[in-house]
Amino acid sequence: MKTIEHWVDGAFYTGSPTGRIGVENPATGEIEAELLQASAADLDHAVEVARRAQQEWAKVPLAKRVDIMFKMRQLVLDHSDELARSIVAEHGKNYSDAIGELQRGRETLDFACGINAALKGEHSFDISRGVDIHTLRQPVGVVAGICPFNFPAMVPMWMHPVAIATGNAFILKPASPTPTASLLTAELYKQAGLPDGVFNVVSGDRTTVEKILEHPGIDAISFVGSTPVAHIVQNVGVTHGKRVQALGGANNHAIVLPDADLDFAAGHISAAAFGAAGERCMALPVVVAVGGVGPILAEKVKAHAEQIKVGPGMEDGVQMGPVISAAAKKRIVGLIDDAESRGASVVLDGRSLVIEGHENGHFLGPTVLDGVPLEAPVYYEEVFGPVLTIVHADSYAQAIEIVNASEFGNGAAIFTNDGGMARRFTLDVEAGMVGVNVPIPTPVAYYSFGGWKESLLGDHHIHGPEGVRFYTRGKAITSRWPSERTYAATMSFQRED
Ligand code: NAD
Repeated sequence: MKTIEHWVDGAFYTGSPTGRIGVENPATGEIEAELLQASAADLDHAVEVARRAQQEWAKVPLAKRVDIMFKMRQLVLDHSDELARSIVAEHGKNYSDAIGELQRGRETLDFACGINAALKGEHSFDISRGVDIHTLRQPVGVVAGICPFNFPAMVPMWMHPVAIATGNAFILKPASPTPTASLLTAELYKQAGLPDGVFNVVSGDRTTVEKILEHPGIDAISFVGSTPVAHIVQNVGVTHGKRVQALGGANNHAIVLPDADLDFAAGHISAAAFGAAGERCMALPVVVAVGGVGPILAEKVKAHAEQIKVGPGMEDGVQMGPVISAAAKKRIVGLIDDAESRGASVVLDGRSLVIEGHENGHFLGPTVLDGVPLEAPVYYEEVFGPVLTIVHADSYAQAIEIVNASEFGNGAAIFTNDGGMARRFTLDVEAGMVGVNVPIPTPVAYYSFGGWKESLLGDHHIHGPEGVRFYTRGKAITSRWPSERTYAATMSFQRED
């Protein structure tokens, strides 16, 4: 059985593990590797290494830091196949989706290649007689990134390129089901010339996270995962004096107005609901169909969804893989059963799908539910599976009320051909990322990514300009040079003009 170690100080690190966590292939249900569970001493060691490395890294000139980021970007491109295969094996998504994940992740490396522009300060001269002011931003120190299973490479890449390019050291805690992409990333940073100790990987379960949240040597935490854990990370991290951004769960809605091009909408909705088996925080699990379009739309989505080839992610032509675990499959099936018992019509039923030769894999087929009551948990909970829930509204006013009553506010979209209604929606909707005829409105990495309400705790969105602010502290420097001209000291707080 393969053992997956940590990565500390530029090398694989065994430390003194407190246990081992099985890493499963969700397409076969087989445990294929064991992940070491870090001890408190292992984390202490990684933090000590990171603190020491950061002191030197922060002094490395921007030109050199940018050079390393350019090399890293190229290395990720060159090693996409290896990275994607590791994602397919541990997460289950199909190969082309894994390649897509890497492309989206690389966008943050593109942004980090221009970090010198993002770090420019401001300067005003003669704010008072002979007195100038300028601002600069310095790294916060050691940053920990705590990540979810569903984007094993991309979500960490939302964090480490910006954190590292701005002069921090980084400790990555990958999700236990999907650790390998993080270790490949570590090897690539080494090849790119990043000094040892600036990027580290420490694995484990919730106990490792608890130690990170309390560790005095960690200055800031970027978390992406479910909302209940985001609350823990936010509360405990802040109590221990850390800067925290905690991105939580989602339950994204799209309103479909009667004037929308329903054929266009159905194709996009099917792709957004069932891509990556619905295991994306920007997936589209809910449609609010306005003015009676629900049943027509459901049939049109069904026509697309039943063409989706489900199977193991490396097989030719497969467009959708399994869900992450047997427990996840059981929970999702239970939610569909419950909705059916509450009167929802099961327009397409993926519950009984079996993939020949992969009978122990955690496969589910795309499922379309129409006329779902708002009281059904499949509607208001985060399902995180290949299920599209269609609810009905009589008017736009009722539809927007439904959307805004959701506890989550990650993404939201509208399908319409009416520019005025679309504009009104972008202003009315309580969500951080909004699409107009775009069902997955994920911002490119030179903008920032983040939701509202229970989808993001803390102030800053992730990557892009807000990422730079999160990973740096501002400083304003006011200076005068007595050699230029000497003014007498004054007790007054007034500026001299
Ligand atoms: P999760 O919350 O279970 O795990 C996330 C991380 O927290 C993992 O590293 C895990 O080891 C750790 N963890 C789990 N339980 C913990 C606990 N009780 N205490 C401390 N740490 C704990 O999330 P997941 O199942 O790996 O990922 C799916 C979730 O992530 C979904 O809710 C999805 O919406 C969310 N997500 C959100 C975004 C976003 O941008 N908002 C992006 C991707 C995923």
